[in-house]
Amino acid sequence: AALYKIDCWGAPYFSVNSSGNISVQPYGTATLPHQEIDLMKVVKKASDPKSSGGLGLQLPLIVRFPDVLKNRLESLQSAFDFAIKGQGYESHYQGVYPVKCNQDRFVVEDIVKMGSQFRFGLEAGSKPELLLAMSCLCTGSPDALLICNGFKDAEYISLALVARKLLLNTVIVLEQEEELDLVIDLSRKLAVRPVIGVRAKLRTKHSGHFGSTSGEKGKFGLTTTQILRVVKQLEHSGMLDCLKLLHFHIGSQIPSTALLADGVGEAAQIYCELVRLGACMRVIDIGGGLGIDYDGSKSAESDISVSYGLEEYAAAVVQAVRFVCDRKSVKHPVICSESGRAIVSHHSILVFEAVSASVYDVPPMSTHGLQYLVQGLTEDGRADYLNLSNAANRGELDICLLYADQLKQRCVEQFKEGSLGIEQLAAVDGLCDFVSKSIGASNPIRTYNVNLSVFTSIPDFWGIGQLFPIIPIHRLDQRPGVSGVLSDLTCDSDGKIDKFIGGESSLPLHELEGDGGVSGSGGRYYLGMFLGGAYEEALGGVHNLFGGPSVVRVSQSDGPQSFAVTRAVPGPSCGDVLRVMQHEPELMFETLKHRAEEFVHDNDGMAHVSLASSLARSFRNMPYLVATSYCCSTAAN
Ligand code: PLP
Repeated sequence: AALYKIDCWGAPYFSVNSSGNISVQPYGTATLPHQEIDLMKVVKKASDPKSSGGLGLQLPLIVRFPDVLKNRLESLQSAFDFAIKGQGYESHYQGVYPVKCNQDRFVVEDIVKMGSQFRFGLEAGSKPELLLAMSCLCTGSPDALLICNGFKDAEYISLALVARKLLLNTVIVLEQEEELDLVIDLSRKLAVRPVIGVRAKLRTKHSGHFGSTSGEKGKFGLTTTQILRVVKQLEHSGMLDCLKLLHFHIGSQIPSTALLADGVGEAAQIYCELVRLGACMRVIDIGGGLGIDYDGSKSAESDISVSYGLEEYAAAVVQAVRFVCDRKSVKHPVICSESGRAIVSHHSILVFEAVSASVYDVPPMSTHGLQYLVQGLTEDGRADYLNLSNAANRGELDICLLYADQLKQRCVEQFKEGSLGIEQLAAVDGLCDFVSKSIGASNPIRTYNVNLSVFTSIPDFWGIGQLFPIIPIHRLDQRPGVSGVLSDLTCDSDGKIDKFIGGESSLPLHELEGDGGVSGSGGRYYLGMFLGGAYEEALGGVHNLFGGPSVVRVSQSDGPQSFAVTRAVPGPSCGDVLRVMQHEPELMFETLKHRAEEFVHDNDGMAHVSLASSLARSFRNMPYLVATSYCCSTAAN
């Protein structure tokens, strides 16, 4: 556990149990020992074939823990309740969940249901998100806020006004000045009195990766001049009483409470000015930005860490709003936050499998062609070759690699000019291979091939280089013997993971050997990507037509360490992902079946009927590797 720093990034939800497996404590520190869930048992239940009592799901697999979600919501609410009580703040906290972080139906429904006692609401940033928020909130608290952010056209605004007619506590937040004309016009037409918010473009700038849209030149929100024009126009239309909320968002992963307090303080000043100008202000919405400590370093210097916890975050917000409002004698507003990452990141784990690993057996050096090669070399090339041999005799491996590379470059140039033959080029390739493998053998970084698509399942790693904790989920009571990088199934050179938390360029891994079923893994090797519950699922695409993973939802059930799989959804089939790109699997199958009837004769060894049924199965199977095709090192089990 110490090697992978699990206590730093995983607490209070993840630890290692006495079997050396990852244990999930859904209620954090409040978890009783019998409530812990052994992740390997979940993976086994999900992936074992139906014939042996499993669910027969293929990996990769997302394991969701709704109880973790509940704990995150409750912890956020109690952090604010505590700060509000402790500081004598005279209003309350009422959060919303930005559905863009993870729009999965059950995640959103769980949040609405579990958050209803705290009047927890939803934030939408597009028309489909608004539709899903509207229907989910029908079962939530009547006071829950429905915050409408994002670029808006007439259709979006009409929909938000309809939501208000349906008695959902909807606020239209103006992100662009032009939206106001539409709001005034459409609300008159639909005879709805809207509740309006403005998104302020703050001067406070968050300098990390996720803050690139903050500051004066940021993409979103209204400048002070525009806010003043909005106030005038609303006044002129007799609608200034509709302006009730001030919103801002200085970016995700706010690194420190100092920066947070700076931004909240600036926004609170604008809030007080709007009160002075006659708006009926009620809510200050501080946006998202509550960060996650992905590497457990608790550092404000890194994009993947933050230097505070929930309590410190809430205390800084309450204090900054109270300080400004008290000085201006303004009634304390309701504090709303749009925390997404902080609510959903911990609740799911992506489990995948290493299916093979490169081996660093150094081949015997072939002297075939070498003599011939040396004869054909230019003088510089011969000097490289001599230097290489001398360095090898002295055992200076790094220098060998340098000379080998240099020699190879010269040979390629000679080959392009036509002064070197293909056998000589092959001889130099063999020589370089031998040198690099000899060096590799003294410092082996293996490549583990994993049954996963980085593009589909960890898009932020590929797109913005974001790191997530990735570790084996079992055998954690054995010392890993090798270091490895992970290479995915896509045929894209970006489809690899060679950067890990802590700045490491490889991951300590166990040998892919059969363990005789000791850990219950049947000799397989499973890894988990943690803290990826926010953003990753919705961003992922269908690169190489690998669809999404299978999903199980796991809840605590009665009995010691027992759990119940309350929902199991297989990942998309080959047919499903083909359909995403407008192909028609049914027609494709018919075409191939006709071709089989035309060209395959029953005496060819495979009757066309069985050939057609094998094709049909391929359309229905998942695009990932199936469990039977493992590398020879694990096949023994
Ligand atoms: N609100 C708005 C307007 C956002 O743009 C975002 C995401 O960047 C969020 C909330 C969620 O932020 P976070 O996931 O950092 O809580």
